[in-house]
Amino acid sequence: SSSGGSIKATLFPGDGIGPEIAESVKKIFDAVKVQVEWDVHFVGKTVDPKTGSYITWDSMESVRQCGIGLKGPMATPIGKGHKSLNLTLRKELGLYANVRPCLSIPGYKTRYDNVDLITIRENTEGEYSGLEHQCCREVAEKYSDIVYEEVIIDNCCMMLVKNPGLFDVLVMPNLYGDIISDLCAGLIGGLGLTPSGNIGDKGLALMEAVHGTAPDIAGKNLANPTAILLSAVMMLQHLKLDESAELIHKSVLKTIAEEKCLTGDLGGSATCSDYTKAIIDNLGG
Ligand code: NAD
Repeated sequence: SSSGGSIKATLFPGDGIGPEIAESVKKIFDAVKVQVEWDVHFVGKTVDPKTGSYITWDSMESVRQCGIGLKGPMATPIGKGHKSLNLTLRKELGLYANVRPCLSIPGYKTRYDNVDLITIRENTEGEYSGLEHQCCREVAEKYSDIVYEEVIIDNCCMMLVKNPGLFDVLVMPNLYGDIISDLCAGLIGGLGLTPSGNIGDKGLALMEAVHGTAPDIAGKNLANPTAILLSAVMMLQHLKLDESAELIHKSVLKTIAEEKCLTGDLGGSATCSDYTKAIIDNLGG
């Protein structure tokens, strides 16, 4: 939704490293003067009876009204009496498609160059929720210009690891999609680098980093904010704010390629805020 020339978007900083990496997005958006006004929502401290989860009804309403949002990782407390926070968001908001692009980052060397894969994971049904249909063949018949092939999951894993170039887009049920998209993240350097988008009806979209709350490094200013930054870039592309998206995307890639200021997970010793500053300094090109 838009107010006074800027677009209102929900921001869930989330738990663990979430607030640190969300701060990085905010700082970079400020530096670029992105026309987005954040409606910030934290996970509740108690279960909201209206949602049966730690996600409050108000938060859910914010996403419904804005139609767009960005979320950090959320820790799902282990125990009974409430639903998984992520599943609550996906189900309540009808975010049925999880889109996970996995592109090699130039300059950051991994086992493979030129990985260019998109996993589209069904997000609300399947093994994780006890609901299964599948419908892929019917849809594929309507789009004869897209080559459609079926591969059994075990063979798919073997093929991906041998040669990721064999695939372009992987359409997966919920559980397989979860596993395969982490495998793809591994091909390009790990969970700190991969963005994703949860997309539903009428373009409702909630972008999020793929990784979790990283409790081992939380609060230490050590987290790599790249995944949430690239998720924020996906959000800007979704909003057709392509210029800002491209500016931020290029600057992130340049900062990684320079190798001068990298976080620990990428073999460097920079803090999350050092790395954020380096990205801001590189915005000029
Ligand atoms: P994790 O992704 O939090 O951590 C796995 C490893 O990767 C850790 O060593 C961590 O330090 C590292 N890591 C992850 N993100 C990083 C980043 N941005 N920068 C640097 N290093 C990073 O996975 P986990 O330990 O299995 O899960 C921890 C918590 O996160 C659990 O409570 C789980 O429920 C939650 N989780 C949430 C989401 C989500 O909200 N989408 C996804 C996965 C896990």
